[in-house]
Amino acid sequence: MCGIIGVTGVPDAARVAYLGLYSLQHRGQESAGMVAVDGEGVARSHRGMGLVSDVFSERVLNDLPGDVAIGHTRYSTAGTSVLANAQPMLARYREGPLALAHNGNLTNAVPLRSDLVAKGSIFQSSSDSEVLVHLIARSEAREPEDQLLDALERVEGAYSLVITIGRTLYAIVDPRGFRPLVLGRLGSGWVVASETCALDITGATLVRELEPGDFVRIHGPDVDELPKLAPKPHRRCVFELVYFSRPDSTVFHRSVDRVRRALGHALAREHPAAGADCVFSVPDSSNAMALGFSEESGIKLEHALIRNHYVGRTFIHPAQAGRMAKVKIKFNPVREVLEGKKVVVVDDSIVRGTTSRALVQLIRQAGAKEVHFRVASPPITGPCYYGIDTPTKSELIGASHTVEQIREHLGVDSLGYLSLGGMVTAAAGDGDPADFCHACFSGEYPTEIPEELVGARHAAPLQQALAV
Ligand code: AMP
Repeated sequence: MCGIIGVTGVPDAARVAYLGLYSLQHRGQESAGMVAVDGEGVARSHRGMGLVSDVFSERVLNDLPGDVAIGHTRYSTAGTSVLANAQPMLARYREGPLALAHNGNLTNAVPLRSDLVAKGSIFQSSSDSEVLVHLIARSEAREPEDQLLDALERVEGAYSLVITIGRTLYAIVDPRGFRPLVLGRLGSGWVVASETCALDITGATLVRELEPGDFVRIHGPDVDELPKLAPKPHRRCVFELVYFSRPDSTVFHRSVDRVRRALGHALAREHPAAGADCVFSVPDSSNAMALGFSEESGIKLEHALIRNHYVGRTFIHPAQAGRMAKVKIKFNPVREVLEGKKVVVVDDSIVRGTTSRALVQLIRQAGAKEVHFRVASPPITGPCYYGIDTPTKSELIGASHTVEQIREHLGVDSLGYLSLGGMVTAAAGDGDPADFCHACFSGEYPTEIPEELVGARHAAPLQQALAV
């Protein structure tokens, strides 16, 4: 899970990128970083562990001069959570400084890395993205674009990239288009970002979404569309729309808010809850879905769970705090709404089932008479190898339990999951439902998944497979 941004042709590009990163914080909270390139082509980098607001200060931004910058927010899906794996990566090779920020996961990084190591490459991180840096640097092509192409022809999997070589910015989306990337105009400059909410905050206007296989070069005022990468069937990540992206963004040409409402509508049609007194969300990710469920069913929408917004990933839980304590720190029920009521709880997804189970207990303790749980996506049955941080198969409750068993485990009166067809149809709108990747729900992985990656994801952390 990562957010990326590239800014060019704007004075103080790092400050613009900082703003953009701030609105991409939801895409990664472990580390943040930026590389800025000045008018002389000198690249400077700053990366740190933690939130964007912790990593960058006024002083740090002053030390990142230039009108070209790229930035990254990271949550590790490949490689450990250490500073060495924070991005953008910055290397110096024969063309000058090369900086790279990657959203997605390469599925063949392990064999490529072994091969590169055998040929003498020295890796500085355990991140899959560093493979790309080495492949670019080792290319024998003369033009930077051809070096990039040489590298991209060898990698498989998911990559949305912003790269600077010297003072030129490149924006690239893999041929299947797993992860989003948008291009915006800011004055006489340009902004490329994972989501449109990052354009909004910088004041940039959306020019267009990058399509699968797009390869764009931006140098000074010029945007050049380079030949597209060799086409493959489109596989947009449906989970971007279900959970990951911000509802105020437009992703894959669809308003995320509208998609989530449509998912709520479909869920209410597939799994109505006749006779319920109210419906509410598990805030914030399922707010729009609960709204949709209410719109379709006519069941009154309520706010019954209040979320503490100050609990970050770094919150230190009291020793031995159980799941219940952790959930209580994050959510508190509104007794007056729940007491004696038959309620519908809408959540976007069930992963391990642990939070949901504790939440149900909290809702019951607050006096709810009946709890009907509705999930706006199908059971998650497998890990994602394309950049979403889903746990191993053994931890996914949907991989080993029937819906009835999950209902029992959660302790709810009824449980309804949206069907796969219902989800992709609602997500596609006027588009083609076949364009989505839904591997974590269906097991239909659009690329080959090498054995070592499967083994790593099933048995041990991915970094073990990536470690040399
Ligand atoms: P669980 O109790 O483990 O099933 O957690 C379910 C909650 O996790 C849902 O409310 C989702 O919004 C949220 N969720 C879904 N995918 C992820 C993810 N990759 N990382 C963190 N949270 C997630």
